[in-house]
Amino acid sequence: MPGRIPEDVIDKIRDDTVIEDVIAHFVTLKRKGSSYWACCPFHGEKTPSFHVHPERQIFYCFGCQRGGNVFRFLMDKEGMSFPEAVHFCADRLGVDLDRFLENSGSDGPDPRESILKANQWALEWFHEQLQGPAGQQAREYVRGRGLAPESIDSFALGFAPAGSAGFLAAAREAGITEEGLLQGSLLRRKPGESPFAYFRSRLIFPIRGVAQKTHGFGARILGAGEPKYLNSPETPVFKKRQTLYGLPEARSSMVKERTAILVEGYLDAISLHQAGWTQTVATCGTAFTPEQARVLRRYVNEVVLVFDGDKAGRKAAYRSADVAILEGVEPRIVRLPEGQDPADLIAAGKEREVLAALHEAPGMVECMLREVHERGGERVHRERALSRLRELAGQMKDPVRGELLLDEVASVFRVSRQALADGFVAPRRRATSPEPPPAVGEAAAGTTEERRLLRLALFSEPARKRLLEGMKPEEFSTAQLREVVGRLSEASEGTGEISRVDQLGVEGTDLEPVLARLLTPEDGEPAADADFDPVAEIDALLSRFAGRVQREQRSREVAATNDAFYSGGDWKAEMELRRKDNRG
Ligand SMILES: [Zn+2]
Repeated sequence: MPGRIPEDVIDKIRDDTVIEDVIAHFVTLKRKGSSYWACCPFHGEKTPSFHVHPERQIFYCFGCQRGGNVFRFLMDKEGMSFPEAVHFCADRLGVDLDRFLENSGSDGPDPRESILKANQWALEWFHEQLQGPAGQQAREYVRGRGLAPESIDSFALGFAPAGSAGFLAAAREAGITEEGLLQGSLLRRKPGESPFAYFRSRLIFPIRGVAQKTHGFGARILGAGEPKYLNSPETPVFKKRQTLYGLPEARSSMVKERTAILVEGYLDAISLHQAGWTQTVATCGTAFTPEQARVLRRYVNEVVLVFDGDKAGRKAAYRSADVAILEGVEPRIVRLPEGQDPADLIAAGKEREVLAALHEAPGMVECMLREVHERGGERVHRERALSRLRELAGQMKDPVRGELLLDEVASVFRVSRQALADGFVAPRRRATSPEPPPAVGEAAAGTTEERRLLRLALFSEPARKRLLEGMKPEEFSTAQLREVVGRLSEASEGTGEISRVDQLGVEGTDLEPVLARLLTPEDGEPAADADFDPVAEIDALLSRFAGRVQREQRSREVAATNDAFYSGGDWKAEMELRRKDNRG
């Protein structure tokens, strides 16, 4: 039921997103004066020509002429669609976009609303039960695992008592519809029977999204019984493959540290948060998925994967590392002692060991080499590891990253880079990540003088008026600039300074990079200080420009005459022109 995102919500997300923070995720930005420079992520270069203008929230590359706002950056860099780019930024800001989606012709009320309402109520009820007389055993269990009361509150842990009667009665009293509870799978019903509570005699871990809405629940049995862990089934608001437990609590630390820690259990996540590692999240009863890796990539460049040191744990760690690498997140791997998880170790007073392991976690290639050595360093193990890494490099979406991985493999495993490259099939882009659209060429941007004229016209409304009086769109040398002038003439009175690409309605079009360039100051331009008078400057430029246009027109005519003369063309027209010329 994906609806349209309303314009005002898009505006708000664009305004609240800090473009330099998003771009810093992909390239290293260096501050120079009031703006940032970097080596362009779109074309290979050694000296930076990629420019980010924080005040105007645009980027522009003087080398390959890509430019635009943050949405355009994500579309070009990551192959996202426009709505995907908006979603990406919204998630980063913790805005629940689904709330704003305009329903496109669906019938009846949105079931998501009633599920979220039921879930929120259930979270509070379970939490109360944990504090009450029914929750004693659960409280003892939680205390035994070393959880502090603050953690219990901030992660809103709860307890679902035995039986269904209490749950049903409380829901009825709170005015929560049976429908909402059934849709959210808090209640189940067998045909012909009365409904029963899905979670009974379990410790409850609410699973929330970045907007702090409760999407579903994880639950651990207390005492004997199967299954040990039970999660909410998939519902319209709970998608396990996309969900990471602890994300709302971990989000800001992840952005700050640029690293996430991924564990397998809810208790492990809470224990690490409690130990100060607040960038920790957990999977929700599934193997690490590409969808989850993409969620992480909104916030971090690197993920530390924490797994049990047994055989199954090792396998899961490498599989997760593959997923992370292929989605562009750099994995590091922590292997704990066999049969131990972070929560156990921390509860057993071995917090320092866990922290040391997190600090020293090797990258994937290094980790594989260590393992080869642990197995005695036999050639067959080395070969297996190498062929696996080579295959992985071949699957990378971004060929450059594939090459970089091979570089690392060559240096860590001490094999020749050439040998690795032999038989290595260059990675192909996947169909899901289309080639970014071609940049608008340098030719489209016109001359320095034209750009200066337009920059002034964008900057001040009086200057804009003057330009539109003094010049016609067709006098500009490129179709793109003519289009910009056309749009300037449509800008309504009182618009004032135009400083963003969306103001002229060029967002998402070929004109966006052109406007981004116009909004980016060029070398040697006078600063907009107190003496700066855009109208006077535009007048001066216009008279120079008019003179130049006349001279160019003249020289074109003369050239045409000469051509005609030497090629024996139309003599009469020729002579007519020459006479006119002589008369001056
Ligand atoms: Zn570039």
